[in-house]
Amino acid sequence: CGVFGIYSPQPADIAWLTYLGLFSLQHRGQEAAGICVSDGESFLVEKDLGLVSQVFDETRLDKVRLGGARVGIGHVRYSTTGSNLRFNSQPLTVRTNKGILGLAHNGNFVNAREMRQEMLDDGVIFQTTNDSEVMLNRVARLARLDLIDATARAMRELQGGYAVVLMSRTQLLGFRDPNGVRPLCIGQRDDGAWVFASEPCALFAVGAKFVRDVQGGELVWADRTGLHSLQVLEGHKPTPCAFEWIYFARADSQVDGTDVHESRIRMGEQLAREYPVEADIVVPVPDSGIGAAIGYSRESGIPFDYGLYKNPYAGRTFIAPTQEARELKVKLKLSPTSAVRGKRVVLVDDSIVRGTTSRQIVNLLREAGATEVHFRVSSPPIQHPCFYGIDTAARKELVASTHSVEEIRSLIGADTLSFISEVGLRRAIAGPGLCIACFNGEYPAGVPLENDVNKLA
Ligand code: 5GP
Ligand code: SF4
Ligand code: MG
Repeated sequence: CGVFGIYSPQPADIAWLTYLGLFSLQHRGQEAAGICVSDGESFLVEKDLGLVSQVFDETRLDKVRLGGARVGIGHVRYSTTGSNLRFNSQPLTVRTNKGILGLAHNGNFVNAREMRQEMLDDGVIFQTTNDSEVMLNRVARLARLDLIDATARAMRELQGGYAVVLMSRTQLLGFRDPNGVRPLCIGQRDDGAWVFASEPCALFAVGAKFVRDVQGGELVWADRTGLHSLQVLEGHKPTPCAFEWIYFARADSQVDGTDVHESRIRMGEQLAREYPVEADIVVPVPDSGIGAAIGYSRESGIPFDYGLYKNPYAGRTFIAPTQEARELKVKLKLSPTSAVRGKRVVLVDDSIVRGTTSRQIVNLLREAGATEVHFRVSSPPIQHPCFYGIDTAARKELVASTHSVEEIRSLIGADTLSFISEVGLRRAIAGPGLCIACFNGEYPAGVPLENDVNKLA
């Protein structure tokens, strides 16, 4: 998912600015979009299934336009456990004795189920099946305290990998899990407005300059007295999600100070050093394989070429909910160009999840006359589920959790297949520590209770 929040010291077109922010975070979730705005008194929310531009036509955007608006948040949703339902879309809102609160969330709380059960036993009512509502209800229940204290308390109770924006009628809050697994950054516009967003591209989209990343365990808030910060949770090792650099974040973003495009190029260079091969052209699977293919080409000296055309109007394939839908979408989305005819091709992609897309792509290239297909993947085999908000599929669907590299090679029909090493991946990202739990099974921010793990696996 992607989150966005803005606080302006003077009235502004918050609805429009939030729309622009969400539009530039669209790659983080295409299932639903929502915007919540307040002018200090009214509190309006509009959300629905669909792309930002589908949900918010002019009429719908007008419904969240307030003349004196100062604060707003927004969300683009990418559902993790398949409940692609309207009532699960965000921002979520709740009425408390501190007024209405709105919340938008990226990630997962690993102990949300236990907490939800405890709260249900206490008579709390839930309207969604979403773990974000647990967070919102915790804050709401503590709202007899100051909103900042209530949020800090909730941060101490909930575990996992998350980045959240939360608003009252007069304040914008943003916070990040203690390990900083999910990204969140801060920007500011020349008119003084503060902006919090999953990625810097959303700051630039609203004319804000990048100020800094929110730290793991840090709570920041903006109101009429300016920007404030409280380090709520301390002493945790920063372990941002490696997948942000591998695949999820936009190529023009910097996450925690490390450039995404450059990292992808380094991953490709690393792959070329680890797994060289004799071939005629290097072809990326667009768009996610482009950076690594550039790197592979640079390091190997094999020319980069445009061997797969991508229909720019097709969305991200994995968003399609069923296997059949995903397979049809691959054909709609990708087709081979004449560049591969008679060529030994190095095919570069960011990841193999289920293996079905990759198999189809190898097939397409062979049909188009490629004489050899050498598949190079810029992430290690994904063997474990993610509990922190990236839907790399349930464990039984992860081809690498049940098959060896050689078995996957044979399944997808490639001549050779190699995945970047864990060490090579760390070197390519060259950031702080990293979460690489979906590759090595070491979860830095906790795991759900065993029965929940089984449910997900
Ligand atoms: P596969 O061969 O595993 O079906 O698909 C691999 C390609 O699809 C990669 O380009 C990857 O970016 C994308 N992909 C497919 N399914 C998923 C998924 O569930 N999660 C993520 N993150 N990417 C996926
Ligand atoms: Fe990212 Fe994988 Fe960690 Fe999930 S398990 S946060 S996808 S690195
Ligand atoms: Mg891809």
